[in-house]
Amino acid sequence: MKNLAKLVVGLVAFAGFVPLCARAQQQAPPLKVTKVKDNVYWMQGGAGSNDGVIVGKNGVIVVDTKTTVDSEKDVIAEIAKITPEKVNAAIITHSDGDHVNGLAAFPAGLTIIAQENCKKEMEASAGSRNPAPQDRLPTKTYAKTDNETIDGVHIRLYHWAPAHTSGDTVVYLPDEKIVFGGDLLVTNRPDTLIHLEKNGSTTGWMENIKGMLGLNADTYLTGHGDMMTKDDVQKKLAFVQEKYDKIKAMVAQGKSRDEIKTSLGEPTAPAPPNANGAPPFPTLTEVIYKEVSKQS
Ligand SMILES: [Zn+2]
Repeated sequence: MKNLAKLVVGLVAFAGFVPLCARAQQQAPPLKVTKVKDNVYWMQGGAGSNDGVIVGKNGVIVVDTKTTVDSEKDVIAEIAKITPEKVNAAIITHSDGDHVNGLAAFPAGLTIIAQENCKKEMEASAGSRNPAPQDRLPTKTYAKTDNETIDGVHIRLYHWAPAHTSGDTVVYLPDEKIVFGGDLLVTNRPDTLIHLEKNGSTTGWMENIKGMLGLNADTYLTGHGDMMTKDDVQKKLAFVQEKYDKIKAMVAQGKSRDEIKTSLGEPTAPAPPNANGAPPFPTLTEVIYKEVSKQS
């Protein structure tokens, strides 16, 4: 039994290690800098997530960081082309490595703001194969909502419920009518990714999307992919809601997971490993099935 446990731990650790190595070897696409509003820039490409750059009166605020210190240094170099001001604060939308690991590129003393569960997840990653930088943990956390004025920029933070992870933050700039959705918003897949292993939730995701749609915003910046309009976000919500309702109804009828997948036109065979050899994340159908089955 002890050996079996060791084997399982070993396999899990190995599965985490392989994609990390494979990713490090992959060539990251070049940074693409977009000026979204006068004082707001958006940096796609590089290694990891799309990141925001907000230029304030006496400093710069970043929203999320890249996966690696090198890639974040490229972001810092781009910021230097925009303004002589330095980055004083970072807002982190969630704890995934492709959003937080680049924090290590900034000097200690940086103000780092995140939802309280995000900080817990970053702390819990210590000792894992892909730990968040433990000397760059959030210095300020909140539970449900937070109002900040940083370097003259009005910023509101919202956490309506656990969604992509247990500690997601939606960043809203009321003056600029911009929302940073983190990985609650992605256009690189038709649906969305819910990390059940970080206590994410599809119903919580829908709650957050409804919350961000209720904000007076016209630009929705994604964690991965392209920017979205309010209409795009509405369509994504409708897509996920419809899927959720269908699966819930089928579970109530006593249908099995494979029967549900078949009726949704999805393969029942386990998906092959990713190109980097890692097991794929559960599909949204698998996630919803688990969530709904737990309730009934
Ligand atoms: Zn991400």
